[in-house]
Amino acid sequence: MCENCSSERLQALQNEILEAIARGEALRAIMQRLCLRAEAIAPGVICSVVTVDSDNRLIALAAPSLPDAYAAAVTGVPAGPRVGSCGTAIFRGEPVCVTDIATDPLWQGFTHLVLPLGLRACWSSPINARDGRVVGSFAFYYDHPRGPDAIERQIVATCLHLCAIAIEHEEVRARNHRLAYFDTLTGLPNRASFNESITQMNAGVTTDFGLMLIDIDHLKVINDTMGHAAGDALIATVAARIQAVVGQATAFRIGGDEFAVLLPKGSRAADMRLVASAIIAGMARPLDHDGNGIMPSVTIGAALADEQRGDTVKLRQDADFALYHAKETRRGGYVRFREGLRSSMIRRLQTKRDVAEALTEGRVIAHYQPVVRIDTGEIVGLEALARMRMPDGRIASAGEFQEALGDPKVAYRLTGQMLGAVAGDIAAWKRAGLDIQHVGLNVTAADFEKGDLVQRIVKALERVGVPPRNLVIEITEQVFMGGRKDGVARTIAALREHGICVALDDFGTGFASLTHLLDFPVDIIKIDRSFIAAAQSSAKSSVIVEAMVRIANRLDMKIIAEGIETQAQADWLRAKGGRLGQGFLYAPAMPAGLVGELLQRLGRKPDRPLAALQGVTASAA
Ligand code: C2E
Ligand code: CA
Ligand code: CA
Repeated sequence: MCENCSSERLQALQNEILEAIARGEALRAIMQRLCLRAEAIAPGVICSVVTVDSDNRLIALAAPSLPDAYAAAVTGVPAGPRVGSCGTAIFRGEPVCVTDIATDPLWQGFTHLVLPLGLRACWSSPINARDGRVVGSFAFYYDHPRGPDAIERQIVATCLHLCAIAIEHEEVRARNHRLAYFDTLTGLPNRASFNESITQMNAGVTTDFGLMLIDIDHLKVINDTMGHAAGDALIATVAARIQAVVGQATAFRIGGDEFAVLLPKGSRAADMRLVASAIIAGMARPLDHDGNGIMPSVTIGAALADEQRGDTVKLRQDADFALYHAKETRRGGYVRFREGLRSSMIRRLQTKRDVAEALTEGRVIAHYQPVVRIDTGEIVGLEALARMRMPDGRIASAGEFQEALGDPKVAYRLTGQMLGAVAGDIAAWKRAGLDIQHVGLNVTAADFEKGDLVQRIVKALERVGVPPRNLVIEITEQVFMGGRKDGVARTIAALREHGICVALDDFGTGFASLTHLLDFPVDIIKIDRSFIAAAQSSAKSSVIVEAMVRIANRLDMKIIAEGIETQAQADWLRAKGGRLGQGFLYAPAMPAGLVGELLQRLGRKPDRPLAALQGVTASAA
């Protein structure tokens, strides 16, 4: 062939390939095209292109004139000092010309791949990226032992250039794809991938797949208290643990603290529950961040696609709904969407609205339940309990609207009004000459979040001239779970410095109660009524109550047993060393006026028999 004709054809080849790259044609197709064109310009030559993966293993890109088996055999072989012409050229970073495959030591162990095809010689040149990396090799095979001629060298020089451009272009494309479809922090596919996957799954014939939404609990608290690096470590750990359970293909990071898992077709409710349990169980190991232990915890909501009849928008809404419900009612747990959830959610929202309205209209009032000495029935204190006067005149107890207190705004307002009412009532009782020792006020995590709890209390008491020692602040472990630990600890300490007692409410129902006692010393522990109710029938509860009494004594804390309903329970508690209690046996919660009357007649008179107290409260109820 004349040199001019070949350089003209080379120019055409170059334009064609560049155009294909610019058009966004797939890399393999471009390489295929390049080989065919090069073979046409250099008759008798057979071309192949290989690239390498991140571990420097060969990947056949194109060898259009060789059987598929050749590409399959080459792919996966690590480049090395004696790996045919291509593997060696990549390894050395320089051209390798083997003029006789049959005898050359570089081909030892690989000759069976090419000799039967009639190939006898191979000249392979490394493809260099702009930054000098070897990203592949371009090879000419010959059917008799020989090396390249001048024209062939020219062709290969052009092809190497084109290969480099095409491969680098592909790398950029892959990187952009990764950025667009993968989350850099966790390496998981992102929201865009999730959207595509769920659409694809839904396009299938069967729709029996599941969607699970997983939310990291308290990520904000970790970010705020330990810094964003700790938050990132938590996110990455949670992602890895989810992936360990469900595998890579089906887990996505779809938001700052939210992951999605698509469960395969054929998934039933029971399968989803198993996966959810495995994920939750997988979290129960602390992760170490700069010497600080962080205990990951997640809340999971899920929905099954077939229950939505193929409507992915509804599927996601339902899973979201289940997650929302789980976060409100079962943090750290799992909830699957059921139709009933919708109505319970609507009810919750309605309750919240009702309470907000009652607060605005001044229909929230304080009732008081006496705290008594178990041995004598003497009233030693009171617990203020919120009540809501309904538009029809009925009085709703806090248990009926407690859900509304999950809303921080409502909870904060409720505390404000209760505080005012309690302070006012204590002042009135005092004016009437009644000896009131302690009145408990229930507060929530929302009261701790603003950081103004102490001021609010001190102000409210000062306004009516009631000393701080008359108030007991009752907190549950929810307060610790929701807030920043150091902030909560500081507030508790500040309350106690002001002479306000602090009680740990519903003790025994939460998580890690004993650790909390060490971190947050309090004055009073209130044993949850579930222990009292179960105590006589369950040996375990009995042991726990006994232990709690002993712990409280040793830590110099008072202990109050809640929900005493029978004399038998009272006797049993007394035998276990319990001294203080409250419950329907003694008195229910009642309006301030009635409490005044009761105190006037019975308060702090140890000789008064229990029966008399019970008589009064029966009529009060
Ligand atoms: P809690 O603090 O554990 O209050 C004790 C609850 O047990 C009260 O229910 C009380 O009426 C009830 N109770 C008392 N003795 C017995 C008994 O012998 N047997 C049984 N079965 N129950 C008894 P209530 O008033 O419905 O309050 C429920 C929860 O609502 C309270 O639990 C407390 O967590 C919350 N709550 C009540 N008032 C307020 C408030 O003013 N502010 C806040 N933030 N929460 C409040
Ligand atoms: Ca309480
Ligand atoms: Ca309680």
